[in-house]
Amino acid sequence: MGVTGQGAGAPLRRIIVLARDTCYIIGAFHGVGIRAPMNGFTNMARRRQLFEGTAKILFEGPEPGTLVQYFKDDAMAFNTRKRGVITGKGVINNRISEYLMTRLGEIGVPTHFMRRLNMREQLVREVEIIPIEVAVRNVVAGSLAARFGIAEGTPLPRSIVEYYYKSDDLEHPLVTEEHVTAFGWATPQNLDEIMSLSLRINDFLSGLFLSIGIRLVDFRVEFGRLWEEDDVRIVLADEISPDSCRLWDIKTNERLDIDRFRGDLGKIAAGYQEVARRLGILPESGPTDIKGPETVQ
Ligand code: C5P
Repeated sequence: MGVTGQGAGAPLRRIIVLARDTCYIIGAFHGVGIRAPMNGFTNMARRRQLFEGTAKILFEGPEPGTLVQYFKDDAMAFNTRKRGVITGKGVINNRISEYLMTRLGEIGVPTHFMRRLNMREQLVREVEIIPIEVAVRNVVAGSLAARFGIAEGTPLPRSIVEYYYKSDDLEHPLVTEEHVTAFGWATPQNLDEIMSLSLRINDFLSGLFLSIGIRLVDFRVEFGRLWEEDDVRIVLADEISPDSCRLWDIKTNERLDIDRFRGDLGKIAAGYQEVARRLGILPESGPTDIKGPETVQ
């Protein structure tokens, strides 16, 4: 990583996190973070590419400790079994994630986001990704509905927070706090922080989306360790967008997120555009490199 410090886990080990879209780095060897270079230089702006996931590419940033996060139009569902392209998705997700991370930063949620660079790229802080995805659920849907046989749309009496292990090979299994701490992915203190940040994010985003007629059904987020001299902070990383949230129209329950792609519901890009439009961040003419709603599989 170019920085040093105590890793969260066992002292002698090396981890490379390549799951889902995030990845970044990551190595921990005797408590010393190291960066594992991945593909060489790309022809995209001649920067060193560190990782390519389904929906994003990470490049080395202009300054040490920074990365450039590039948003692609590619989509994936059912643990890589379904792949497609949602034209213009990357442009919109870049804007939506910028907007939501900025608003969250304003209420004191620390994030990796620094600034948007252009239509598809943003500058972010390099962090050591904690290899768990945190799901927060307000309404039953998706894998929760399938696991317990409860109808989609059933409101939950209180928000449920779940942890999933970031591993494409293992299909992102649900794990408990015990697994997370026993396997050294995060300490109990890290988890307390992650839980409290996740609930704050949920409260804030639920209200924000409600104000534009959208129900935040659930979402998944990732966190990373940000090393600053001798200090380490847990910060929100990756992205927040219709790729990682379930967003339903409050009146019609129309899906405005990646479930349109998962369920072949049609008008897929239109769902993303509608979220951006209601957030007030889609120019009237639309992003210039969006050619129009179109999905190819
Ligand atoms: O599939 P499941 O119900 O567990 O998804 C919960 C939330 O996590 C949904 O908002 C979904 O879009 C998101 N998710 C994600 N990345 C995955 C799987 C689900 O962001 N690999």
